[in-house]
Amino acid sequence: MVETGTNKWTVAQKKRARTLVNVEVRFGRIPRPNSLPCADCGHVWVPGGRRHEYDHYHGYDDAHALDVEAVCTRCQRRRSLERGEIKLENLRRAAAIRSLRRKTRCKFGHPMSRASDGKWRCRECRLVYWRKRGKVRGQAQQDRVV
Ligand SMILES: [Zn+2]
Ligand SMILES: [Zn+2]
Repeated sequence: MVETGTNKWTVAQKKRARTLVNVEVRFGRIPRPNSLPCADCGHVWVPGGRRHEYDHYHGYDDAHALDVEAVCTRCQRRRSLERGEIKLENLRRAAAIRSLRRKTRCKFGHPMSRASDGKWRCRECRLVYWRKRGKVRGQAQQDRVV
């Protein structure tokens, strides 16, 4: 989450409003956002899917701290953009930094790639690992020299 704090609420006040909502959820006075459909697009949460969050549609002042609607993260981001709380160029910059930081090679110098489960890892080393454990028959002897 990119928070620039450029609009009228401080990051601390936003945090405070979110904490108040979390307390209500914990005591069961309002439902968990994941249990409600997205107020904007109707998206229904399933385990592993994009999460829902409570959006403070009246702002983060104490008086409106509990004026919230459950929206999915995608709609939440769009709302934040529309309200000017976050800026598109900041999101782009954050994404660019993330991809730069991502390692392209493992410690043995193999190229890393995205696995079928979406995780970023070295395929070569995974294969060696499984071979060593005897899960995959093959050339564990040669693979030891990497
Ligand atoms: Zn949505
Ligand atoms: Zn590797």
